[in-house]
Parts: sequence; structure tokens; C-alpha cells
Amino acid sequence: MPHERKITDLPGLISDLPTGDRALAERIFDVSTTTGRLVPPEAMHAWIEKSFGSVDRVTAQRIVKVTNRITLEGTLFNELRASRPLDTGVSLDLDREIAATEGDPFCHPEDGTPADVFGRVSGEHATTASNIAKYDGFHGVVVFDDHNPLHLTPEKVAGYVSVGLQWCREALEADPDARYPFLMWNCLWRAGGSIIHGHAQVTATHGTHYPKVERLRRAAAAYEQNHGSDYFEDLATVHASLGLGIPLEGVHAFASLSPLKEKELVVVGSDPQDPGLSRAVGALLQGYVRDLGVRAFNVAFFMPPLGSAEEDWSGFPTVVFIVDRGDPANRTSDMGAMELYAASVVASDPFRVAEALGEDPSG
Ligand SMILES: [Zn+2]
Repeated sequence: MPHERKITDLPGLISDLPTGDRALAERIFDVSTTTGRLVPPEAMHAWIEKSFGSVDRVTAQRIVKVTNRITLEGTLFNELRASRPLDTGVSLDLDREIAATEGDPFCHPEDGTPADVFGRVSGEHATTASNIAKYDGFHGVVVFDDHNPLHLTPEKVAGYVSVGLQWCREALEADPDARYPFLMWNCLWRAGGSIIHGHAQVTATHGTHYPKVERLRRAAAAYEQNHGSDYFEDLATVHASLGLGIPLEGVHAFASLSPLKEKELVVVGSDPQDPGLSRAVGALLQGYVRDLGVRAFNVAFFMPPLGSAEEDWSGFPTVVFIVDRGDPANRTSDMGAMELYAASVVASDPFRVAEALGEDPSG
């Protein structure tokens, strides 16, 4: 059996790469390790052994800090946290809780939800509603035909995305300035979803894109200017060379080295309307739910504007982020001051995530 790769061994894994891949990895990521130490009193030893396996594992803890030099996003991984097996438990209570809310307004959107000024967009697996308390001038809901948001398949997800993108085109037709589209999915409470019934959301904004999308555009443009190379291609190459790629046709998909939170996946595709891209996202979400036991997650589509804009979007792909928000039964928030203002602290090892999803996420 080959030696299992671990995130805390990242500096060595990068040094072992072939020269070209190593240079790319070092160009994009700054990686450093440190050891955190503590001195437990004798009275705590039994509890530490029970909780962590041994006292030695706690007295010296290896921590790796990964910073994306291009986007200045970064993550701290602690060996003690990352070495725990991925929690793939499934709660039966959740299924029951979801079923108990059947018959909600989203189960009959035609008379349970408002329509947008341009009407509704309907497709095979979803229909749109207008969001009742809006984030932005145009804010719609893609209401899934399925009440249970976890009963997803690649085909259904492709249908949800297709309906969402058609909504964005309708919004642009209603207002030619609403050219910046955003598609997001907050699945269950921990991910910010207040309604259980399966739904994604779409917005269209004016002026400039949302700041986090615009920041990524600027970072990628500066990278291209400085290195004469495509940032997203290079990012995917680095992940693939380390064994973090997830093979899916027509897209680059990988478990991120600098995840925002647990088990973050990144999918890079060309056109947002490519059904191969949304099917790939659906296959990963199916693997998330089925193989990794994820219940609450966020999905976000970073897309260039529909129609022309002043700033240069040439070469900007569609980038989809998927992140696990933790066990619905857990009362502790997964985001604290570190995540909001410093760097993310993440327990799941991206090598384990890629391994779990890499076999055949669509199988
Ligand atoms: Zn419902």
C-alpha cells in the first residue's frame, strides 16, 4: 500500500514534485509548518488519552499554514484535527425533520410564492419564484420540484442551474444594467438556508460584480500579466500534480489546498451554460451527500457578466465553490473570528476528500 498523503506533509510533497510542477506550486502557494506545544498536568492525562489517543499527540502538534499568494486566501490545518477520520454519519432524525415540513409554500410555488416582474422560469426539475425580501434589485429563488434537498442527482442539479441561468437572462432583458449574475445554494440551516424545501438562489447586480468575484478576476488578471500564464489552469495543475484532482469530464475539479471551510471543492469550467459543468457539480454534491455524509453545504457560481462590461473578463472561466458547513445537529458555528477576519481553520484533510470523491463521483 502506498504511503498515505497527508496535508501536514505538504512541504515534502511539494519538494518531491517534478521541477515544473514544483515551481508552479511554489509560485501560487506559500506553505509553512510549525509545532504547537503544551504541558498537560498529570490529572489531565487520562482524559487526553481518551479524547486524542495519546498524550504525545497533544504535547506536540504539527500545524501547516497554506496561503494562496495570488488571492491571499489561506488555511491552517492541525494534524491533531486533520487526522480524525472524515465524519460520514447520517442522522435519521434529519430525514424525519425534512419530511415533517412537506406541504410548505415551496411545494406549490404557483400560489405559495411571488413571481418576478418578468414572470417565472420553469424547467424539468425546478421553477423560479421572486425572493420576498431581496438581497439585490433582482433576487430569485430556484424552487426545486423535490421537497428534500438531499435527493439530488447530476441530472436534477443540471436542471436547477439551467433554470437559474435562464432567470439571469430574463433579468438582463428586463434591465440591461443587471449584467452580473450570481447563483448560490444554501442547503439547510447551518449553510444559511431558512427554508428546508430544496432551493437555490439567483441574483443579478449592477455597476460591478460582487466584490469577491471582482477580487478573483483582478487576482487572476494580475497573475496572467506577471507570469503570462492562466491562473485557473495553473491552479488546477498544481492540485492535480499533488493528487488532489477529481476526474470529471470537461472540467477541472479538485479538493482545495486553501479551503474556506471543511471539504471545499473547486470546479473550473468554461461556459456556465455547459451542461457538463452543472452535471459535474451535481456528481460532486451527490458524492458529498452519499459518500461523505454532508448534509449542510454552500455552492456558489462565479460567472462573468452577461453582455459587455468595462473591465476585462476575457479568459475568466466559470468557477464553482462547494463547501461543507458541518453537522446539522451541532450547535457550535463553524465560523468564528479566525474565519471571518484572519484565516480559515480546517479539520478535513483535502487528500482524504479527493480520495473519497476521486473513485467515481458519478458512479
Ligand atoms: Zn416543500
